[in-house]
Amino acid sequence: MQRYFIQEKKENNIYLQPEDIHHIKKVMRNKVGDSVHCIDPFGKHYLCSIQDVETGCLKIDKEIEEWNELDIEVTLIYAMPKGDKFEFVLQKATELGVHRIVPLQSRRCVVKLDKQKFEKKLERYQKIVKEAAEQSYRSILPKIESIQTIASLSPYLTNYALVAYEESAKVGEHHNFKKVMQEIKTKQSLTIIVGSEGGFDEDEIEALEKMGVLRCSLGKRILRSETAPLYMLSVIGYHREME
Ligand code: SAM
Repeated sequence: MQRYFIQEKKENNIYLQPEDIHHIKKVMRNKVGDSVHCIDPFGKHYLCSIQDVETGCLKIDKEIEEWNELDIEVTLIYAMPKGDKFEFVLQKATELGVHRIVPLQSRRCVVKLDKQKFEKKLERYQKIVKEAAEQSYRSILPKIESIQTIASLSPYLTNYALVAYEESAKVGEHHNFKKVMQEIKTKQSLTIIVGSEGGFDEDEIEALEKMGVLRCSLGKRILRSETAPLYMLSVIGYHREME
């Protein structure tokens, strides 16, 4: 059944957003009485029936017990890559359960984006995240923060923070990620930081370490910038849900 993250709920009715009205009308070709699954901003799930296709008015038939989130909150800080890789990572990280994404402008980023340029793309990024969250049965919509520099990252560092650094891999440090995975407990939060194609400079890593971030390896092979966050989120998902 099609799922929609909703913004507006009035008593027993839900009103879909314009793009979702378009979706039920033109893509799903829904009719009055058809059922849809809605999720409110607090993560509550509802089974609804369509009252009016034109206005997107739905009636809540019942609340559904469902919660599909990881038991820890994961923030991904990701240095802006080239081309459409950021969009790819937004989509896949949402599927893999990320809680929040913080774009980062680091020294070796080829793409130079300031806050204004980033804000212009935000609506498109939020659409990608919403569609991925609906498709993957998420209970919350991951938040996309505005673009940051290394110096402004402190508010986004949580109980545990790891920066993936390939130089750690080259000198054989393979323990920090595993150690954090063994220590972290339900309801705690973890920040993972990944570099762009050019990676991080050593002094950027040192600046992060001064903020309490632990450098970590992701194994012996050097992963592409868009593979690294997805590898980390997959490992986290495995540890929290499959072990
Ligand atoms: N410029 C680097 C080089 O040639 O050695 C490679 C950077 S890599 C393509 C992009 C990002 O992925 C890195 O900044 C790091 O965050 C992460 N990464 C990739 N492979 C890694 C590994 N084996 N260990 C730790 N981090 C890794």
